[in-house]
Amino acid sequence: MLKRDIPTQESAGRVIVLAKSKLAPAVLPTHGEPHTPLQPWQPWDASMQPLCYWDDEPVALKVVTRPEEGWIDGRQWMAELPSRWFSLLSTALQVGAWLENHRFCGRCGAHATRLEAEFAMHCHACGHRNYPRISPCIITLVTCGESLLLARSPRFPPGRYSTLAGFIEPGESAEEAVHREVFEEVGVHIDQLRYYQSQAWPFPHSLMLGFFAEATTKRIRIDGVEIADAAWFSPRKLPALPPPYSISRELIEVHLEKWQQ
Ligand SMILES: [Zn+2]
Repeated sequence: MLKRDIPTQESAGRVIVLAKSKLAPAVLPTHGEPHTPLQPWQPWDASMQPLCYWDDEPVALKVVTRPEEGWIDGRQWMAELPSRWFSLLSTALQVGAWLENHRFCGRCGAHATRLEAEFAMHCHACGHRNYPRISPCIITLVTCGESLLLARSPRFPPGRYSTLAGFIEPGESAEEAVHREVFEEVGVHIDQLRYYQSQAWPFPHSLMLGFFAEATTKRIRIDGVEIADAAWFSPRKLPALPPPYSISRELIEVHLEKWQQ
């Protein structure tokens, strides 16, 4: 279990090693202990960021520049490990991405340094502080009775369809974003918006806010850029779905369960 205290008083413990990569965040596999992303207990050095406690053991994060072969993609590891590891991997991937992207002050350009007591990069030249960025996104399963509106992005593996998602714009509420994104991506109007639950999504720093919505118009008009295809699916004839650890899949499963009864 993850405890969100930064182990600043510790000088040794477990380590999770991430590769610095813009495209696919990767985690160093652990030899001899295949079902954990945590390296064996070891002394910590100044390059490591104390991260959290995991099952009462202190954990530090190490980000390396040049990974050797055999690293595991963050998404792949989330698919392979039991779901209890999600919060640790998600925290490590997001803090790792933030550290790498905030080495310099965004206000004056001076070198920023890490603070100990909290996740913060401090600029000694102008006093500006940067905290880990979390980007809120909405993710929505649009339904019409039992039918599900699912879409595929050009980046998806062949045959996979998912729920609709998008970033919340500055000044916008989550509910406004659901209406806007659904209309922009598939040209469908909705109502009966219901918030379900949220999920941290560390690719690289999203917070997915999950909604259900009911369509008031059925005709689909895709934008052709973000969405390669979209269609209404019957629960009895579904395409390939998103991975089980995702909130997208959870929204779909909750809907299917409701219509199976
Ligand atoms: Zn500055």
